[in-house]
Amino acid sequence: MLERGEIANSWRRERWDSLRLLTPNWQSCLPGVGYDGPDPDGYMTMPEVVELIERFAAPARALVRTGTNVTSVRRAGDGYRVITGSGEIRCRTIVIASGACNRPAVPDLAHAVRPTVLQLTPFGYRDPSQLPDGGVLVVGASATGVQLAAELARSGRQVIVSVGEHVRLPRTYRGRDVLWWMDASGVWDQRYDELEDLTRARRLPSPQLVGTPERTTLDLNALSAMGVELVGRWAAVRDGRALFSGGLRNVCSLADLKMDRLLGVFDEWAATAGSDAGFEPPERFAPTQAPRSPRLQLDLESGEIRTVVWATGFRPDYRWLEVPVVDAKGQLRHDGGIVDSPGLYALGLPVLRRRKSTFIHGIEDDAREVVDHLARSLGGAPESPSTAPALY
Ligand SMILES: Cc1cc2nc3c(=O)[nH]c(=O)nc-3n(C[C@H](O)[C@H](O)[C@H](O)COP(=O)(O)OP(=O)(O)OC[C@H]3O[C@@H](n4cnc5c(N)ncnc54)[C@H](O)[C@@H]3O)c2cc1C
Repeated sequence: MLERGEIANSWRRERWDSLRLLTPNWQSCLPGVGYDGPDPDGYMTMPEVVELIERFAAPARALVRTGTNVTSVRRAGDGYRVITGSGEIRCRTIVIASGACNRPAVPDLAHAVRPTVLQLTPFGYRDPSQLPDGGVLVVGASATGVQLAAELARSGRQVIVSVGEHVRLPRTYRGRDVLWWMDASGVWDQRYDELEDLTRARRLPSPQLVGTPERTTLDLNALSAMGVELVGRWAAVRDGRALFSGGLRNVCSLADLKMDRLLGVFDEWAATAGSDAGFEPPERFAPTQAPRSPRLQLDLESGEIRTVVWATGFRPDYRWLEVPVVDAKGQLRHDGGIVDSPGLYALGLPVLRRRKSTFIHGIEDDAREVVDHLARSLGGAPESPSTAPALY
């Protein structure tokens, strides 16, 4: 295993200070390693996630070469030539597990914002104290955007959130964590080859969820109640003004509708599980209270906002991969982790084999199937389950 930084590098270096997992402790587990503390329904802090991954890696530690940056992978004979910062490796197969979130995705209109406004991405953001005084425009209302907007509003700043397509979810539903329902109802196990629109499923934004000890819901209504102003999707910059789409209420209605549909799936599953399963009665939540006439423009040079935080998603970085398997949008071409080049595999990408693929607990099932294919392609039997984790 080659790792450019340390074990659990992304959790050590690429997250803000207050972040906790949005998956509950009981769910955030790796094969053979899970949470065994007093708060299974809580949410891990970053040091706790690092500790979990280190605990998993410990038995295989001799196989992890940390501080080893892969700078080039090329096809060579019937295998690959891998160039790293500390030498060259030849191999027949490679599992690309370099992550789906290597770089913040920032739209081109960022270039049109004058330097008088500070621009930050979630990789550069640590806590509100690093921002200049004044208002903040948070762009994006998925998990990262709503969490940073709430933290900045609590620090006493004026916060505006530019809202595009998003996934609304309550933190708890019928008395249980909403992610418990995703798991129990089988939604998270839905397979990539059974989904109607896989491309869309792979592009879905992260749900509006936050992990707090109070298990609070952090949707747009919660942000509005904190005094955060909602505007539409940021569409352009003209004459120093940010122009927002007028479709805010539409995207909110769509998110409400999709949430209700998902809750309906949970209810249907609960009905088949039987009333003695002890669930609380079905719930429906108030529609999103988006303003009737949200503002459509913001003068970026008036001093009203001094910072823009781009919470517009993340993307993988394959600049080191010199094999023609990356599409025009920078995504790896693969079928359930089997990449379009002999002996090349991938893990940890959105809906790789299941809806849960990019979550910590989602890796186990995917890895088993991908490693099984890899072992068969090498002509050998798969490793026994007790040694398999050392492969990824
Ligand atoms: C802000 C945020 C919050 C999240 N919250 C949750 C959550 O609550 N629960 C959950 O289950 N999941 C969450 N996730 C998803 C999370 O990223 C995955 O669960 C998990 O980190 C994926 O692990 P990975 O090993 O596939 O990728 P990563 O954690 O990204 O690890 C990839 C590793 O590859 C290394 N690497 C990359 N390129 C190279 C190279 N060229 N050479 C050598 N090494 C390289 C990197 O240094 C990194 O350590 C979150 C993601 C983000 C971005």
